[in-house]
Order: sequence, then structure tokens, then C-alpha cells
Amino acid sequence: MCAKHQIAAQLLDCDFLVYGASSHRADLDHLLSSAAAGGAVRLLFPWTGRDQTVGEALTELLADRGVNAVDMGFEAEESPTRAPRLTMIVPDGSWANARALVTELGNRCPQLRGVRLNDRLVAAHESPLIEALRAGCGRGRVSTLEAMALFLREVADDAVGGSTSQTRAFASEDASTLLDGLAPLVEHVRRERAACQPAVGPSPANLQVWTSALEAAVASRGEDLGIVPGLRQCLVCGAALSTPLRMKAHIRGRKHCEAVAKSFLLAEARGALSECTSDIVSRDCMTQPSQAVASQVLLEFSDRPLSCGAIEPPDLALESLSRVITGLKMSCKNDSAFNS
Ligand SMILES: [Zn+2]
Repeated sequence: MCAKHQIAAQLLDCDFLVYGASSHRADLDHLLSSAAAGGAVRLLFPWTGRDQTVGEALTELLADRGVNAVDMGFEAEESPTRAPRLTMIVPDGSWANARALVTELGNRCPQLRGVRLNDRLVAAHESPLIEALRAGCGRGRVSTLEAMALFLREVADDAVGGSTSQTRAFASEDASTLLDGLAPLVEHVRRERAACQPAVGPSPANLQVWTSALEAAVASRGEDLGIVPGLRQCLVCGAALSTPLRMKAHIRGRKHCEAVAKSFLLAEARGALSECTSDIVSRDCMTQPSQAVASQVLLEFSDRPLSCGAIEPPDLALESLSRVITGLKMSCKNDSAFNS
């Protein structure tokens, strides 16, 4: 079940039927039998030659049942003394799927008729969901849920069909509930689409400024670069060094700092910085970064990925041995300096 169906099922009193599913067959057969017998079942779809407006459907519903307009409403249980119930079948899927489904249902039940939304309302509607999926395409188009909401709005605004003020109030509330329920899905789609957008590279000038700032920040750390001993593969820029003993020089180098700057600037452009970095960056100047902000960027975009690098035992052994030898050499140098 997709998110849209869950929203409709949770927010409105409606059932979700899958065409062809054996467990749903009886329900659909019942609906089509009811339509064939002249029951109040309609399809929410523009259907040339077989459709009517929302107002026409409501007026007909009242006339067919001989119910006074004052009593009209959407009760769960229908009875001769209570208001009639209009059941709407709302096809979902791609436009081609929905059309195929409508044709199939029409063949199975020639008496079934459609209800079309007011063209003017559809033309004025801007679908936030379709807009989020394809920017610039939302005007005049409706997703399935929005079609349901627009239908309810028409019922709420109905002036000729005979809806009572109570029915209109319920329909208006349901329409707002549906559109509000769609908001988290729209927001999710927006975020997903933004994350999938091809990254626009940072400007050369900005990249240069940040690379230099990062080089200065690494240099200020002195010998203590916090690198995991034995690290030979750089997860930031992809460099594979011949020996872990060169990692310090690599991290201080231009190539590595430029890769860190690129990662940071792309994440910043996408709004994907961690809360901490985002906080510090927002207080700083993007075109003249301070050492404090460059150090934070190093932490997130160099230290953190490097700390996840795989260490090979021979590389670790080599670096440990090298430290011991360096220590011994220093000690000998100090001894000879002292003796002389
Ligand atoms: Zn690197």
C-alpha cells in the first residue's frame, strides 16, 4: 500500500481495493452490482459521454431517493428515513493505469457513471505533490488525493445539489484534512528530490579560499593530526599511499584539503551539514572562513571519514616499528649531544 492510500484510509472512512485481488473481488462486485441496479455509486473520473458534474450527481442522488434536501448528508448506514450515501470509486495509478481501469469497469458495468471535477477549480489548483515531483508542472493538475479533496470542496461549496450546511461543513473539514495529511508526503518528496539533484560544483574562487583555510587549519595542529596508526588509504580523496608513513604529509597537502573543501561546500549547498557544523558556519563568513570554522570542517569532513578507514596489520606493524626506530634515533642524538 502506498503512502497516499494510507493517508486516505487513515483520514477518511474509505476502503482500499486492489483490482484483481481475490480478497477484494467481492467488494468491487458488490459496488458494480449496486451501480448496475441504479444505486448511488459513481466513479471520480472525467469520462466523456458518461460523466456528470458534482452538483448534478448530488441533485440526482436526492431526486432518485426522494429525500428532502434538508435531510441530505453522508451517514455510514443508509436507511429509508436517513440521508442517502453516495459511494465514490476513485481510481489510482498512473494516468494510463487509471484510464485502463476506468475502461475495464465501464465494460463490466455499462450503467456506471463518472463524476468530473469543475474544470475551473482544477485549472486554478496547484498540486504541491506534483510540483514537488516535477517542478513547474503542478498548476492545473491533481494527484488522486487532491482529486478527492477537490471533490469534497465542491460538495462543501454545492449550491444547487441540496447539501445541508452540516454536510458542507463535514466535506470542507475532510477536504482540509486530506490536504493537510498530504503535507508530510510532499515534504518527504521535496527532501528526497533535493538529495538526488545533481550537485552543482562550488565556484573555483570559493574552493580556493576554503582549501587554503583548511591547509592553514591542518598546519596549526602541528604533529598531532589524530590519524589512526597504519592508515594508508584516504577515504576522503581516494588516495592510496605506498606507506602509512606518508599519511600525515598527505593530509597536510593541497589535494587532500581541496577534496575536504569540495565535500564541505557540496554538503553546505544541499543543506546537509551536521547541526554542530551548520551552527558554526552560520556564524562565520563563507568567503573568509575563520580558523575555528575551518577546524570544525576538518573534523567533520576529514577526521570523521578517516577514522573509518580500514587498517591492514602489516601497515600498522610498519608504522609502530617506524615510531620505535624514530624514538631510538632521537634518543641516540640526544645522548651524543649531551656527551659532546
Ligand atoms: Zn586524502
